[in-house]
Amino acid sequence: MNKVVTRFAPSPTGHLHIGGARTAIFCWLLARHFGGEFHLRIEDTDLLRSKQEYTDSILASMRWLGLDWDGPLNYQTQRTELYNSYVDKLLETGHAYWCSCTPEEVEAMREKARAQGLKPRYNGCCRERNLGPGEGHCVRLKAPQAGKVVFDDMVKGRIAVDVSELDDMVIRRADGMPTYNMAVVVDDYEMGITHVIRGDDHVSNTPRQILIYEALGLPVPTFGHVPMILGPDRQKLSKRHGARAVIEYQNDGLLPQALVNYLVRLGWSHGDQEIFTREELIKFFDGTSLNPAAAAFDPAKLEWINAHFMREMPLDELATLVRPFVEKAGLPADVADDKLAALCHMFRERAGDLKALAESFRPLLVGADELVYDEKACAKNLTDAGKAHLNAVAERFAACDPFDAPGLEAALHGYIEGNGLKFKDVAPALRTALMGFMGGPHLPEIMAFLGKDASLARIRRAAGM
Ligand code: GLU
Repeated sequence: MNKVVTRFAPSPTGHLHIGGARTAIFCWLLARHFGGEFHLRIEDTDLLRSKQEYTDSILASMRWLGLDWDGPLNYQTQRTELYNSYVDKLLETGHAYWCSCTPEEVEAMREKARAQGLKPRYNGCCRERNLGPGEGHCVRLKAPQAGKVVFDDMVKGRIAVDVSELDDMVIRRADGMPTYNMAVVVDDYEMGITHVIRGDDHVSNTPRQILIYEALGLPVPTFGHVPMILGPDRQKLSKRHGARAVIEYQNDGLLPQALVNYLVRLGWSHGDQEIFTREELIKFFDGTSLNPAAAAFDPAKLEWINAHFMREMPLDELATLVRPFVEKAGLPADVADDKLAALCHMFRERAGDLKALAESFRPLLVGADELVYDEKACAKNLTDAGKAHLNAVAERFAACDPFDAPGLEAALHGYIEGNGLKFKDVAPALRTALMGFMGGPHLPEIMAFLGKDASLARIRRAAGM
């Protein structure tokens, strides 16, 4: 096989959304699997809606997802002359012609066809008129008048479209600008693209683009049109259901490897494997096993995958990733690395993302006077008996030297068993005293983290409440 070259061609009219991200991931993986190239092209011809800030944001999201690209970035707005040189070639070879029909005339033709129950299309009126350039003249492709355009889609299988469905499309507008389909064909050819994977909202453009390739005598790439991502209700994915920009997931504390893993499984499978390392994805993704049925977005599964990666990653790495979220939550920014790693160790089993993980640290990072006590937990657990246990057990803890988790564990159980008590007689009061509510990790671990002074201060404070 020739070298596989793919591309991702976003329009910078917004941030990178998850649908686009999935397309980019598929293109990137196919190129990496075959040791080929992955290119990036910015389709910025919509001058009104395209913005540099969106290009920057898309690039930042690509980097965050780890989707590196080869070669320079191409901007379509910088390539108008190139596109028009191909239009000129088509004119020279008789595969295109000048057309003087006004938009109103074309609309009238369409209207007439509609009235006759036919497909609304340009009627080819200027095909044989041999017009040249002139005010208001556009250039149209001289499309074949019979036959079918057939291609084997990587996702949808064989697609055949009768050319009677396609009229002589405009390839250069009257203002001299090449049209979208023309630009895409020239770009994909010039960039040496062998596989075009894109959203299936573009599938109707493909037969038109194939006609342009054929008229230019260029090799037609392989196409793959991936179905859109649906919401959990199998309707169009809405913002409420996760149709969000990659940057929003990043800000919420998702891990890029989790988002990649999740998105890649929306429309592709490798047996029933759910979790992949990046190396495995590259190894297994060969452009087959792409599902033609639309997949539904499942936020719970995304969180499950993210929690998995948070649990599996080295603690110091997790601590580095969670630090900005700790700061954003307004918690002390100067927590030492090892302390942050210890917090990650204690809380990561329970958090779905970095933001939630950082927030779960709050009770242990604020001073005793800032600790928020849950009223119900206090009323239920800080009873007279509970307070008496707190005072008594505090004496045992005070004697712990070193003040570490195994010693504290032994002291706690020594107190419980020595007094013929049960764990539930003492633990809820202790947990409420230390955390402010009935949650959080193992009690001795909490105390070891807080240290002797802070632990005893919290216990004695609760005992006096
Ligand atoms: N710029 C198009 C889009 O953002 C992509 C077109 C293509 O991949 O050919 O939908």
